[in-house]
Amino acid sequence: MFKKILIANRGEIAVRVIRACKELGIKACVVYSDIDSSSLHVRMADESYLIGSASPEDSYLNIPKIVKTAIDNSIDAVHPGYGFLSENNKFIEALEKAGIVFIGPNSDVVKLMGDKLEARKFINSLGIPIVPGTIEPTNDPEKVISISNEIGYPLIIKAAAGGGGKGMRIINSAAETANAIERAQSEALKAFNDDKMYIEKLIIDPRHIEVQVLSDKHGKHLHLFERECSIQRRHQKIIEEAPSKSISENLREKITQAAVSITSAANYVNAGTIEFLVDEKENYYFLEMNTRLQVEHPVTEAITGVDLVKEQIRIANGDKLTLRQENIKINGHAIECRINAEDPFNNFFPSIGKIGYFCVPSGPGVRVDYGIKPNSLVTLNYDPLITKVIVHATERSSAIQKMVTALKEFKLSGVITNLPVHLWILSNIKFLNAQYHINFLEDNFSPENVLNNDMDEEKIIASALLSVFLKEKKGELSPGKITVSNNNKWFVNE
Ligand code: ADP
Repeated sequence: MFKKILIANRGEIAVRVIRACKELGIKACVVYSDIDSSSLHVRMADESYLIGSASPEDSYLNIPKIVKTAIDNSIDAVHPGYGFLSENNKFIEALEKAGIVFIGPNSDVVKLMGDKLEARKFINSLGIPIVPGTIEPTNDPEKVISISNEIGYPLIIKAAAGGGGKGMRIINSAAETANAIERAQSEALKAFNDDKMYIEKLIIDPRHIEVQVLSDKHGKHLHLFERECSIQRRHQKIIEEAPSKSISENLREKITQAAVSITSAANYVNAGTIEFLVDEKENYYFLEMNTRLQVEHPVTEAITGVDLVKEQIRIANGDKLTLRQENIKINGHAIECRINAEDPFNNFFPSIGKIGYFCVPSGPGVRVDYGIKPNSLVTLNYDPLITKVIVHATERSSAIQKMVTALKEFKLSGVITNLPVHLWILSNIKFLNAQYHINFLEDNFSPENVLNNDMDEEKIIASALLSVFLKEKKGELSPGKITVSNNNKWFVNE
């Protein structure tokens, strides 16, 4: 087994990986930027190396500096976390060249899946449905208009190198086409230094459902069921659940099988996620594959009992997966809320400052992953995600109740967070009934709604959830049958 692992990341995910290393008896080493010198990941690591200034290009994204640091400190393997260099095939190649193991897939498959057009072509060749659209680069307005004649508006133009919701624009009509292409392309060039574009049909009000996969170096490919990630803001997930309460057993079977066919056809190794869009008729379409650990991996860990980071490390070490598909079961329900430092009452503008008071919830079935502590600086240099609250319970209804209780226990000063938005979502009738899609927040959110969210209603929600829970237990009710009356009170449908 490896003796020293370098974590090329920061914040909560660096802390998460440090814990996995320590549990496996491996020295956890980290890189950090000057602004992070007293951060939690640096404090918790066995060794830490200052590599540059706060600007990511000078530190967490700087391949030569990170590889040199790894060589100089006799590092055996590098865990990239998510974001930063986690899906950068040049980083993987540089490590391979230096004889250092990358804890993730090989560079070829990262390159293939990192080019969304190439990925679409590959998935199409396997006979797995992709979102209707082009599989060749497309940025000519005339061509796009002719495609619209075949598949109809609205369309979505996307960057082949895209990520983080950047470089995509919806096109509603021929008149909008040229301008939308130009704007998406210039955003893509700025964000990814690559303006290769393609077209997809815009699926109306779909759900975002993704499948967690794990593959070892010996040709074993497993799935760990799905996550429901449809609560999003500007194409960025903010609440995730596992399992999805909206899909049939039949669809679960289809998407998990599709995911495993993709990993075996690609000779994939390590953890990954296959994302699908699912429409209301349960048509499913491959969206993209993320060749890394996801932010939302803890909900899968909660329902399956599998430590995904430890599995990643063992796989990279060449160990055989000891898990067997037939033994991986869905146990209960898990929900994750991403706590971002942003102001929901000011258009979600990033909130920066020094953390003051920081008191996180705990108790049975509550997990909090964070990379901050009192006096930590939250700056504009990095992602606004500061903490993840994850709950696990036997039923969805009790998981929601547990999350409301946990979030109300959460106390933090120094920055503004999206916590009130989470409480509002958790008390929303559509969410309670698990009847939501990717546009839920856009269609329903307003700062006034959140400000007026009277959490005394919480008692009513709690009793409604309790009845649902009792009925679910007796098998009298399929999950999610709560309705709201005219006077805004919740009750359970008989
Ligand atoms: P990124 O890699 O930037 O995250 P994705 O292609 O994964 O981009 O899409 C991000 C989100 O955008 C999806 O979860 C979904 O909400 C929305 N989206 C993307 N493509 C479509 C589409 N064809 N129809 C409807 N929504 C889409």
